[in-house]
Amino acid sequence: YFISFEGLDGAGKTTQMEMLERWLEQQGLAYVRTREPGGTPLGSEIRHLLFQRPDLTITPLAEAFLFQADRAQHFETLILPALAEGKVVVSDRCFDSSIAYQGAAQGVGTELVAQLSRIATQGHTPDLTIFLDLAPTLVQARTSLSAGKREEQSRFDRASEHFHRKLRQAFLTLAQASPQRIKVIDAAQTPEQVHQNIIALVEPLFKA
Ligand code: C5P
Ligand code: MG
Repeated sequence: YFISFEGLDGAGKTTQMEMLERWLEQQGLAYVRTREPGGTPLGSEIRHLLFQRPDLTITPLAEAFLFQADRAQHFETLILPALAEGKVVVSDRCFDSSIAYQGAAQGVGTELVAQLSRIATQGHTPDLTIFLDLAPTLVQARTSLSAGKREEQSRFDRASEHFHRKLRQAFLTLAQASPQRIKVIDAAQTPEQVHQNIIALVEPLFKA
């Protein structure tokens, strides 16, 4: 099974992915934890270009293609082989982020980015996508609190509340369009409550 986590910065993806990892271990399930961008050696280079080269001007369309190049490599060399070996793949973000960030918030267009994503993924999608939903005002509070701890300070992290509202709306629209795949969880709950909500979604996959 392929599970992706989505959410605005500060929604708690890292914490929840770690809690899910411990649960998968307890169940004796083999899994691979990965992320977009950056899950492969090429992806790490692309991530560096995107987040650690403020001297570079990258147009929104070029940025959209860099994320898709990362994704094409990620699916072909890591995700699809791991799934073929019967492993659970847990990814920190997938193409829904591209549709929300580059497509909606950056203005490249959601339909265009969705189309590019279908090419990059060879038509594959996560079996389950968990959207950790947090109000844009809380996003700002959480990211400024944790900013010092982050190893990377991306140029997107300091985005305005307006940007965050557009992002959240885009994720919610995607969730409405794919209610079977994308599940919305209230990320303002305690980490343990959020984890329980996630397990309630994940457990049936393995009990089926
Ligand atoms: O998820 P992660 O924290 O690794 O993402 C790094 C940064 O890249 C975040 O600030 C996120 O908002 C941004 N991002 C983006 N477009 C994507 C994926 C992530 O702007 N498609
Ligand atoms: Mg982050």
